[in-house]
Amino acid sequence: MPDRRVINVMGTVLAEETVRAFGESLHGELIRPSDEGYDRARRIWNGMIDRYPAMIVFCKNVDDVIESVYFARVHDLLVAVRSGGHNVAGTSVCNGGMVIDLSRMKEIEVNPAFCTARAQAGLNWGELDRATQFYGLATTGGIVSRTGIAGLTLGGGIGWLMRKFGVTCDNLLSVNVVTADGRLLTARAEENQELFWGVRGGGGNFGIVTEFEYRLHKVGLVLAGTVYHPAVKAREILRFYRDYIADIPDELTTMFAYIASSPTPFLHRFFHGSPVIAIHVCYTGRIEVGEKVVKPLRVFGPPIEDAVRIMHYTELQSMLDSGSPAGLQNYWKSSHLMSLSDEAIELLSAHAADITSPLSQVHLQHLEGAVGRVGEDEMAFSHRDALCVLNIVTRWEDPKEAEEHMRWTRDFEVAMRSFSTGGVYVNFLGEEGEDRVKAAYGRAKYNRLATLKNKYDPTNFFRLNQNIKPASL
Ligand SMILES: Cc1cc2nc3c(=O)[nH]c(=O)nc-3n(C[C@H](O)[C@H](O)[C@H](O)COP(=O)(O)OP(=O)(O)OC[C@H]3O[C@@H](n4cnc5c(N)ncnc54)[C@H](O)[C@@H]3O)c2cc1C
Repeated sequence: MPDRRVINVMGTVLAEETVRAFGESLHGELIRPSDEGYDRARRIWNGMIDRYPAMIVFCKNVDDVIESVYFARVHDLLVAVRSGGHNVAGTSVCNGGMVIDLSRMKEIEVNPAFCTARAQAGLNWGELDRATQFYGLATTGGIVSRTGIAGLTLGGGIGWLMRKFGVTCDNLLSVNVVTADGRLLTARAEENQELFWGVRGGGGNFGIVTEFEYRLHKVGLVLAGTVYHPAVKAREILRFYRDYIADIPDELTTMFAYIASSPTPFLHRFFHGSPVIAIHVCYTGRIEVGEKVVKPLRVFGPPIEDAVRIMHYTELQSMLDSGSPAGLQNYWKSSHLMSLSDEAIELLSAHAADITSPLSQVHLQHLEGAVGRVGEDEMAFSHRDALCVLNIVTRWEDPKEAEEHMRWTRDFEVAMRSFSTGGVYVNFLGEEGEDRVKAAYGRAKYNRLATLKNKYDPTNFFRLNQNIKPASL
């Protein structure tokens, strides 16, 4: 029989009556161990994370969020905040304590005249894209449709539209935030400016965002998809890719991927499951121009499969979903690269060739364009001068294989350090310690964030995240 007791950080057991009364006060639902659905409710996308919260509050509205914050504060409970549940580090679920879950808060209002959308935090990118594409509009979002808009936006948000329209938080106009003392604040350029600066990249450190307001852009059909090459040609393809992306327009965003086993039926027949190189593309702009821009990529090699075509933006946004199923063991290492030298290409190719799991991938996401044109100090999101994000996405099924796959990932990341800027994208971090969180922002920005944390969360109530410690602690 699972332990239904709620025990606070001081070791005190809360009275059953107190917990029950809290549950009854909610508009949403409180799930506790042994309740039906508890096991599903405590799970997140990364199957490696296996935690047992004492209370999971499925909030229905902002009142529920505020009530949960009050209750957790008064009773000294550990708190995790969850929206899409996609964070690889698993910070959105805790052992004991309370998970404040916003995934049922899914209202969205699109204003086509002003090209804006107000979206509640529980939406994922598939849901937001569907609502905005109804009007032929979109904003930069994640490349897997089930990822939550909340965690992604608060960390920055890199995706197919970023080189044209900036990262997701560049398109953020305002947020509604429940702070650690239970106040509901709005932060935008003209109001609570410093808080607005911090939530655009600083993650969930400053409060629970209940609603995001985004700037939208006209996005119609896109020229998108993937060209595939055999992995044995990794070095040659990477050198071509480096030279190609050096001179492409903002309308084109690309991603290089080393995929451990062939992902399409055609490639599978051809390669019997052995590794392939994929170059994914999204051209948003006039299709005739896009055809010319993308042509060199479709000719070079030539590719063994060319799956680039005109498609709806929402189709592109779910194109990679099947390659990222929930429940697998996931261990990622990421860093920013300033350039792709021949030495870096050699090392990357050699390590990728030793890939240990057929489910793993290595990604290079090309930045620059509009991402690099926003001033580094404009918001907490950092490292805009990098060429690309390297992400070693290691996945496997059997937990017993963890050591082998994690060792390969760590060795790979260490080997690539000499080519890294030293920076990292906060949303791709695992539980890697304070120094890596500092690396996500750099020293000066981290200090500014710590001062802001002091103002809005001096006791570090919101600490299950890529944590910025209040300057006074
Ligand atoms: C398959 C996959 C694909 C991805 N693709 C991309 C991509 O294309 N681009 C990209 O930039 N990133 C991508 N990511 C990383 C993603 O941005 C982060 O994992 C992000 O945290 C996910 O947001 P979530 O709401 O789903 O996370 P959750 O796990 O629910 O939350 C993660 C953390 O965010 C904070 N948080 C969540 N909700 C709130 C809230 N409402 N208010 C305040 N804080 C909150 C909390 O600190 C929480 O611990 C991807 C991740 C996965 C697993």
